[in-house]
Amino acid sequence: MTTTAVRATRALDVPAIRRDFPILETIINGHRLVYLDNAATSQKPRQMIDALVAYYTSQNANIHRAAHTLAATATERYEATRQKLARFIGAPSPEEIIFTRNTTEAVNLVASSWGLANVHAGDAIVMTQAEHHSNLVPWQRVAEATGATLTYLPIDDGGMLDLNAAHALIGPRTRVVAITHMSNVLGTIAPIAEIVRITREKAPGAIVVVDGAQSAPHLPIDVAALGCDFFAISAHKMLGPTGVGALWGRRDLLEAMPPFLSGGSMVGHVTFESTTWAPIPQRFEAGTPNIADVIAFGASIDYLDALGMDAVRHHEREITAYALATLRARHPALTFYATDDTNVRGGVVAFNVRNVHPHDVSELLDGRGIAIRAGQHCAHPLHTVLGAVATCRASFYIYNLNEEVDALSEGLAEVEKVFARAIARPQA
Ligand code: PMP
Repeated sequence: MTTTAVRATRALDVPAIRRDFPILETIINGHRLVYLDNAATSQKPRQMIDALVAYYTSQNANIHRAAHTLAATATERYEATRQKLARFIGAPSPEEIIFTRNTTEAVNLVASSWGLANVHAGDAIVMTQAEHHSNLVPWQRVAEATGATLTYLPIDDGGMLDLNAAHALIGPRTRVVAITHMSNVLGTIAPIAEIVRITREKAPGAIVVVDGAQSAPHLPIDVAALGCDFFAISAHKMLGPTGVGALWGRRDLLEAMPPFLSGGSMVGHVTFESTTWAPIPQRFEAGTPNIADVIAFGASIDYLDALGMDAVRHHEREITAYALATLRARHPALTFYATDDTNVRGGVVAFNVRNVHPHDVSELLDGRGIAIRAGQHCAHPLHTVLGAVATCRASFYIYNLNEEVDALSEGLAEVEKVFARAIARPQA
């Protein structure tokens, strides 16, 4: 007889989590903050804030240089975050983790160092229609500089990547496949492992670059299992401070890449005539890095680890399902842009209220202390595909409660009252 180990997913203790986030007590326009703009940036737990303050209060020193105790401690703690992050995303080695400022810089690093050295005229760079500008504009620039062509894999009516198109459009000329893991507008999750499999089969010389800005905070990540070549993240979306991101890359690729930025800390030996490069990861971390924020990011990873990413994902599926069911049932004037299936989507929900500009919706909600985002969310081409000038976006995280979804719904009822005449007209 075989036994199947069933691992029950622990439910998050959301009230206890909320006590770790001081900002959630803030009063906005006379109401307690309802923060539903987590896709833009997450709020911060006391543990991360304490780590940041502790660093500047009692640990501040430059790293990788002096031999004194303070410098050694700071270096150790900075490197400890690299190890934690490697473990958190399933990277085979901490040396394959490069700290950057954010996802944007991580993608620029790959585009500039790998792209400009390896992409040639006539090659194809394949992206998707759902890319954030961060994983689109750097590749447009590589195409412009090299003469490569740009191809965009289409999404279907449910906001899911069309895999048939991937089979058809990824081919021998493809040199780069750059793809977002979770859309920051639709919340849909791309089948990365499948895209990697297609790429390896059809375009053996191509790299697969994954924009993990929205997935790393919300899904368990295992880059080795995904099989991709590069994976980019931002700390500020996963309980960490602003100003820190990371790029994971395969060792053989990183080791063969020229530097991105150059100067101190990234060299082997320098003469007046020439310079040799330091081994990875130092080769890609020129100058004094963001020591304090990297160390504080370590506390955020500890926090997520303690919750367990399976539990984080479970909570988000539940609240997203509740939000979609509630909003659809109570607000027939709302349009949604992606599938409701929480097996393939996360907690980013884009919508529009018929004939009402998203900025007006957002402003009325703000009057009730509810923070959502209105606009194009750094995804202009995707909005063209959706046929929407802009969208409202509510996005959830570990501290959000169903009652905050109810507050959103009550706020939308007010929007419907204020704009009743516009909503009663046919869709403009
Ligand atoms: N990609 C996606 C999918 C995002 O949601 C974001 C942030 N909105 C980014 C990239 C860019 O992140 P950052 O601004 O931290 O570089």
